[in-house]
Amino acid sequence: MDFTFTAPQNDLAKRVAEFAADRIAPHRQEQDRSGTYRPDLIADLAAADLFALRIPVEYGGLGLDAVSAGLALEKLAAADLSVCFPVLNAALIGGVLADNGTSGQRAAWLPPIARGEAVVALALTEPDHGTDAAGIRMAARPDGDGWVLTGEKTSIMIAAHATHALVFARTGGEGARGISAFYVPLDGPEVRRERLTDLGCKAGGRGRILLDGLRVGRDELVGEPGGGFAAVMRGFGVSRAYIALMAIAVGDAALAEAYAHASRRSAFGQPLGRFQSVTFPLVEHSTLLHAARLVAYEALCRADRGEDPRIPSNMAKWWAPKAAVEATHQALLTLGQLGWSEDGPVAQRLRDVIGLQLADGTAAATKLTVARLVLGKEYAP
Ligand SMILES: Cc1cc2nc3c(=O)[nH]c(=O)nc-3n(C[C@H](O)[C@H](O)[C@H](O)COP(=O)(O)OP(=O)(O)OC[C@H]3O[C@@H](n4cnc5c(N)ncnc54)[C@H](O)[C@@H]3O)c2cc1C
Repeated sequence: MDFTFTAPQNDLAKRVAEFAADRIAPHRQEQDRSGTYRPDLIADLAAADLFALRIPVEYGGLGLDAVSAGLALEKLAAADLSVCFPVLNAALIGGVLADNGTSGQRAAWLPPIARGEAVVALALTEPDHGTDAAGIRMAARPDGDGWVLTGEKTSIMIAAHATHALVFARTGGEGARGISAFYVPLDGPEVRRERLTDLGCKAGGRGRILLDGLRVGRDELVGEPGGGFAAVMRGFGVSRAYIALMAIAVGDAALAEAYAHASRRSAFGQPLGRFQSVTFPLVEHSTLLHAARLVAYEALCRADRGEDPRIPSNMAKWWAPKAAVEATHQALLTLGQLGWSEDGPVAQRLRDVIGLQLADGTAAATKLTVARLVLGKEYAP
């Protein structure tokens, strides 16, 4: 087993960490308070090539491996989790479009994503269908050689900021095989957006997307009719490991603040760090995050080798956000009243990271996926 990153992967991680320290971390608190991204955030992320990570080179991307994208997302998340979502979506949706689009669609869609001109959202969840995503009801009514989309998507991250969405709608019968994917612009009069007010990742602009008679043709259809659900589930096989790494980075950043506090702060005449009841919980959380990180990178290594990443990526997705929430909570307690204050970063980190226990599938959804892969499809509810 080789536990080392390559020199280019280490260089990328260093570059993104420097960018995040310079251009992301200083705006974390102001974006949280304003509840939106600063106006030049997307241009900054684009200038740092962060939308191009997973876009193939022939379409203007960097064509990097999944491990590299994981490293970049970790560095961003350590600075401000809420800014990861447009980058995560470019990697996930760019991958779905690259794998399932025609050559014409790839040439039209991928370069603008790589340049940050198209900011993409993933529109799967509906008010009555979350974990039960194969049951979505958004209607794609046949109309000439295309379809007309009507219905509501909800809980869509960066709905407020996106220019385009990968929208899932029902073109066929019941179940997953009746669902198709469409890549659509969000600027038409048939599209309405409403923001949701959240506990954390407030700047991320999660919201509803309501479509009322949006006409789409074959040009907007991604893959075959009825192939949309399978395409996104293949994408989730990798993106769930990215989300695990984002969570771990938040937990590690909170623990780093707690370790620093334990060395600075004295109580009863000595540094807090001399009390083992202060340091041992921090070490236990560091250990769990370290272990979860290995599982997430195993998934990404497997994906890069062309192997099925789904068992480790789904294991990482249920475990890492839970471990990160618990680590961040412990870090807050170690900081005492300073941790509770919104003037420091840990309170926001705790609010933000809880969302990753839901995004892209809850612990139940990911455990169901692992159980199905181990036992067989007939054991799925
Ligand atoms: C920060 C954030 C970002 C998100 N981003 C997006 C996005 O960009 N695009 C998008 O489409 N969606 C997005 N979502 C939605 C997310 O995918 C859903 O919240 C998630 O799939 C769960 O669906 P639900 O909220 O409807 O809960 P439900 O499916 O109603 O589940 C409620 C509870 O019941 C449990 N449960 C459900 N079914 C089972 C079962 N069979 N066995 C055991 N327990 C079960 C769940 O684990 C959960 O605890 C996001 C959510 C959040 C919080």
